[in-house]
Amino acid sequence: MSDISLSPAAAAQSLVSVRNLSKLYGGEKRFLGGNAPILKAVNDVSFDIAPGETLGLVGESGSGKSTTGRILLQLEAPSGGDILFKGQNITGLSKSLLKPYRRDMQIIFQDPYASLNPRMTVGEFVAEPLDVHGLSGNRSERQDRVAGLFKKVSLDPSFMKRYPHEFSGGQRQRVNIARAIALDPAFIVADEPITALDVSIQAQIVNLFQDLRDELGLTYLFIAHDLSMIRYLCHRVAVMLRGRIVEIGPCEAIFANPQHPYTQALLSAIPVPDPDIERSRKPITFDVGTNLPSETAQLQPLGGGHFVLRS
Ligand code: ADP
Ligand code: MG
Repeated sequence: MSDISLSPAAAAQSLVSVRNLSKLYGGEKRFLGGNAPILKAVNDVSFDIAPGETLGLVGESGSGKSTTGRILLQLEAPSGGDILFKGQNITGLSKSLLKPYRRDMQIIFQDPYASLNPRMTVGEFVAEPLDVHGLSGNRSERQDRVAGLFKKVSLDPSFMKRYPHEFSGGQRQRVNIARAIALDPAFIVADEPITALDVSIQAQIVNLFQDLRDELGLTYLFIAHDLSMIRYLCHRVAVMLRGRIVEIGPCEAIFANPQHPYTQALLSAIPVPDPDIERSRKPITFDVGTNLPSETAQLQPLGGGHFVLRS
């Protein structure tokens, strides 16, 4: 990807693009007078994701990552800006016009248990989107389709009749992933899908995302609060701070040559497997209070598709 990113040409070639996305919360009239304070949860965010590409979106809790993901999938309306899918502007489309896009764009959430229905067998849960879109076929076809999805996420199809509480966290996330790929989507927002899992399981789920990407040609927005797994999975990374993207670029560039102090702090926080290096590792601290991006700051190109926010 070159510096043509963020141009109209880049949007035309991308699977997903957002332009100048913003989301304000608050501002509503208060009962005792005055208005609630306005929070810019997402502030002038633009990026492109090419077909087959994985973009990592990283930042501390509250930086606006989930809001960006939800707006991208039109689960929430933006306060401003545009969402393009395969070059088509899909911002604010009606429910019925959005229906074909809904099939193509799926989301996986952080807490694999909360997203499951405790009273539904996991087989029924995975079959549900097929039913909604009239794609389940007859009884035995439906059974076969769900079994096939279970195999794709390395779950034994005999587990179909079980309930969510019978599974481990990693297995539950596999069930959610099976449901997300049921309609053969092109694009998946994975919103901190490994954060709630044991560290020992996290790499397995990252591997599953990688295998499915290769097998099914998926494109991901992969949201995380730190950079630790990002380099194994993502082609590019966007670093978000208080609603703004402060740095974006290819993984190699960001890891080798981080430019924004916040990116540098995130990188210094990653544990190193070598105990000698780990002992002497000094995390860089970043004080958001004194380092807030100014409203007039813009993403400046550094070459090779690497951009940093500067005033
Ligand atoms: P992240 O996913 O990076 O942790 P979020 O996108 O969830 O961040 O939230 C960004 C900011 O927007 C936070 O300050 C959060 O409190 C606020 N926020 C998110 N959703 C809402 C909402 N529905 N109403 C009001 N504020 C919200
Ligand atoms: Mg979040």
